[in-house]
Amino acid sequence: MILIKNGHVVDPQNNLNDKFDILIEKGEIKKIEKNIQPFPGCEVIDAEGKIITPSFTDIHVHFRDPGQIYKEDIESGSKAAVAGGYTTVVCMPNTIPAIDDVPIVRYIIEKGEEVGLCRVLPSAAITKGRKGKELTEMALLKDAGAVYFTDDGAPVMDSFIMRKAMEYAGSLGTFVADHCEDLNLSQNGVAHEGELAATLGLPPLPPEAEDTMVARDCILSIQTGMPVHICHISSKLSVEIVAWAKAMGAKVTAEVTPHHLYLTDEEFLDFSCIAKVSPPLRSHEDIEATRWALASGIIDFVATDHAPHAHYEKMQDLQACPPGMLGLQFALPIVLELVKKDYFDLNRMVEVMSIEPAKKIGLKPPQIKEGEIAELTIFDPFETWEVNEETILSKSKNTPLLGRKLTGKVKYTFFKGKIVYRD
Ligand SMILES: [Zn+2]
Repeated sequence: MILIKNGHVVDPQNNLNDKFDILIEKGEIKKIEKNIQPFPGCEVIDAEGKIITPSFTDIHVHFRDPGQIYKEDIESGSKAAVAGGYTTVVCMPNTIPAIDDVPIVRYIIEKGEEVGLCRVLPSAAITKGRKGKELTEMALLKDAGAVYFTDDGAPVMDSFIMRKAMEYAGSLGTFVADHCEDLNLSQNGVAHEGELAATLGLPPLPPEAEDTMVARDCILSIQTGMPVHICHISSKLSVEIVAWAKAMGAKVTAEVTPHHLYLTDEEFLDFSCIAKVSPPLRSHEDIEATRWALASGIIDFVATDHAPHAHYEKMQDLQACPPGMLGLQFALPIVLELVKKDYFDLNRMVEVMSIEPAKKIGLKPPQIKEGEIAELTIFDPFETWEVNEETILSKSKNTPLLGRKLTGKVKYTFFKGKIVYRD
């Protein structure tokens, strides 16, 4: 038995936003009350000054397994996930080979279960080999356990294929998610097109590359009546387009990454590849737009786009180095900072980190409620920690945050009633 004492419990699903004790017996939440007395044989967790919420769900991670496990694998990725307070993650299909066939879908699920730290679910590719030409066997892939479809890392450039994919996935009761980037507009761009890229002479990547594809997807969704999910939205105009589409009644949802909520293109000031990510880090104005959109619900939730790369890959020149950065362990402190700066409250934080992403993939979100299996995250909102080689649990260490301090630290993560992470 575990007794969690004096934590501030936040779960808008159960109108909880106050100090409570939580008693967990055989993995199940037995009692949520003020002042439960400890008894012999029961482990007591002192949660004074800590916040307890339902654990988090991230529908966008790259665990590089199979094919590039020198960057990350399902085990190391799971460790980073639970250290970030997550107990459900969805792997992207840009593995080698791509997740476009039933045995690979099964492999991800089975390996995730074998590691057992959290729920590791696969998405599957929209098109075979993620080449954008021919649809995958969506019905078979869904039956095998793929939770949605995306060619992430690459857009579906052909609008006719995208329309068919939307209709097909929608009719199966799931959805497509698009990495919105018009490759004809992005060319070999690296940095957000703006003053900074011009001053530094960096190859510019215009925001229209994202905006035009977001607009196309929204229009296709309106026209087909089928859902579409916008991956890693990052520009102010894209946010406005999604707001318009939602007002038109489109079944459009959007996610934003911690780095697009927190870092600007100024990370390129030292010409470092560590700042290269797709879509690129943008301007202060774009960041403000995504923050307020997350607060208002125009953006539905946070997804990390956790994208590990080896050190030597990120040491190449700006053109050659692959885009992407880590995210799983930084989402909580970054989103918490937005709470501290009054963009939104703790209830909204739980919605965007836990409830909404779980619902999006058809899962019942974890709840802090008597009779439920404990899936919760306990964090210290004021503990400051340094991002470094030791504190990052991923195999790769690629993040511009290296050497910087963040405030907000996960102390315990419970999955299926068990403690899977303890700081
Ligand atoms: Zn992407």
